[in-house]
Amino acid sequence: MQERDCIFCKIVRGEIPSKKVYEDDQVYAFHDINPVAPVHVLIIPKKHIFGIQHLEPEDECLVGHMFTVAREIAQELGVAPDEELNGGYRLVFNVGKDAGQTVFHLHLHLIGGRSMGWPPG
Ligand code: AMP
Ligand code: ZN
Repeated sequence: MQERDCIFCKIVRGEIPSKKVYEDDQVYAFHDINPVAPVHVLIIPKKHIFGIQHLEPEDECLVGHMFTVAREIAQELGVAPDEELNGGYRLVFNVGKDAGQTVFHLHLHLIGGRSMGWPPG
């Protein structure tokens, strides 16, 4: 999948509509079209990266930034845990098809608003 055809690159370029949650020069965040919980947001880099397997050393800051953005969004959307760590959310990268990866543009799932089981299915 090249950038030209990539569904998430199209979302970043505004060619496919999305419900934006956050944007800066490096990342874009939007509501998942098929949410698995009351809060389900995807945080993606604006530049096309296929996935965790394709990260380069120079992407380390970018990936760190994705986590900082996720934490801020969780706070904003009211799913961040309190001081006793009640409440909370899950951050997930699906890496490869067995893990459930279906879109091959790096994305961090932020899932919250309900209690979740472990291990995941
Ligand atoms: P993954 O299975 O980890 O690759 O996650 C891909 C996610 O992208 C799934 O949760 C899909 O529901 C979501 N998704 C696919 N297309 C869109 C879209 N056009 N807008 C928002 N979310 C999407
Ligand atoms: Zn892409």
